[in-house]
Amino acid sequence: MKTVYFDNNATTRVADEVFDAMVPFFRELYGNPSSMHTFGSQVATKLNAAREQVADCIGAKPEEIVFTSCGTESNNTAVQGTLKAQKDKKHIITTKVEHPAILNLCKHLAKRGYDVTELSVDASGMIDIAELESSIRDDTALITVMFANNETGVLFPVEEVGRVAKEKGVAFHCDAIQAIGKVPINLAESSIDLLSISGHKLHAPKGVGVLYIRKGVRLSPLLLGGHQERGRRAGTENVPYIIGMGKACELAKGMINEEQTSVRSLRDRLEEGVLKNVEKVKLNGHKEKRLPNTSNLSFEYIEGESILLLLSQAGIAASSGSACTSGSLEPSHVLSAMGVDAITAQGSLRFSLSKYNKEDEVDYLIEKIPPIVEKLRKMSPFC
Ligand code: PLP
Repeated sequence: MKTVYFDNNATTRVADEVFDAMVPFFRELYGNPSSMHTFGSQVATKLNAAREQVADCIGAKPEEIVFTSCGTESNNTAVQGTLKAQKDKKHIITTKVEHPAILNLCKHLAKRGYDVTELSVDASGMIDIAELESSIRDDTALITVMFANNETGVLFPVEEVGRVAKEKGVAFHCDAIQAIGKVPINLAESSIDLLSISGHKLHAPKGVGVLYIRKGVRLSPLLLGGHQERGRRAGTENVPYIIGMGKACELAKGMINEEQTSVRSLRDRLEEGVLKNVEKVKLNGHKEKRLPNTSNLSFEYIEGESILLLLSQAGIAASSGSACTSGSLEPSHVLSAMGVDAITAQGSLRFSLSKYNKEDEVDYLIEKIPPIVEKLRKMSPFC
C-alpha cells in the first residue's frame, strides 16, 4: 500500500545527510568532549563546529547556543531560568494558544505564586500587540510568545513583541520550535532574548534541542552539575545528536527558499484540491501569515478522528486538531481560543508537509478524501 506522511509538525524523518554525519560519533569518535586527551579534544572540536552551524542558521553567535535534550527542556530552561534570576518579579505573559510545553508550565507556575496573563487571539489566530502592551506590569518578569503555532501554523508578529518587550525592559522568550527551517530566523536583527528549537522538527533526531540565550541575558540553569555548556546546562553532551542538529541546521539554512516555494506550493495544491473537491470545509488560521507547510482544515459535521482513521487505512498520516495531547476528545485549545465552535473544532485536521513530500502524494490525498468524508457524513447525526 502507498504510504504518505503529512504529519511533519509532529515530527520529521531524519535526513540522510544528518544520519551520515552522526554515525562516526557512535563508533570512532566516542570521546567525552570534556576530556583532555585526543579522543576528547577531537570531539570537542566537532561539537563546536555544530554549535557554529546552529548559530549560523539563526543569526546568533556560537557562545549564545546551549544544547539541550528537546524543545520542552529548552522552554523550561528559558522560563524557569529567567524567573529564578529575577526573584522579585512574579508576572508572566504568554498566549492562550501556546504548546503545552509552555501552557502547562505556566499553569504549574501559577500554582506556585506566579500571576500568568494569557493573551487572547482573534478569529484568525492572531494576537493583539495593544493587549500585550497593556498587560505589561512593573513586576512582569517574562513574555513568552511562540513564533509559529503548531496546530494552525499561524505566525505571530514576534519582532513587534520583541520591540515592546525591549522598550519595557522585559525578557522575551520565543518558542520557535515549529518555525525553524520553515521561515527565516535572524536573531542578529531581533529583540528576542531567548529562543527554543528542537531537532526532530527539522530532520534531526528526537532527543536534541537548542536554547539560544542572547549575550547578557540573566538566566539560572535548570540542571546543575558539571560545567558543560558554559555552566548553563550540566550533563555530558549528547554528541551524535548534536552533530545531527548542526547538520540539520546547515541543511535548513540552504533549504529555506525551497520551503517558501516548493513546499508552500505543494501545501497550496493540497488545500485547494481538498476545498474544491469536498464541500463544507473551512480553513482555520490566518491564510497568509502562516507557515508554508501547514494547513488546518475543519470538515463540518464529522469528527477529525474518524477521518484520520480512514485516511490511515488508505496509508495517509495526518493529525487531528480535535483531540488534545492527552487523547481526550476535548476540542483543541487553539481553535477554541480562536472562537471556533466545538463541533467545527472537532472536525479539524492538520496536514503538515516537508521537503520529502511529492506532488503525487498530494494528489493521492485529494483522490482519497472525498469518498471518506461522504461516507462519514452519511453516518453523522449532524447531517
Ligand atoms: N513547542 C512547540 C510549538 C511544539 O510544536 C513542540 C512539539 O510539538 C514542542 C514545543 C515540544 O518540543 P519537543 O517535542 O522537542 O519537546
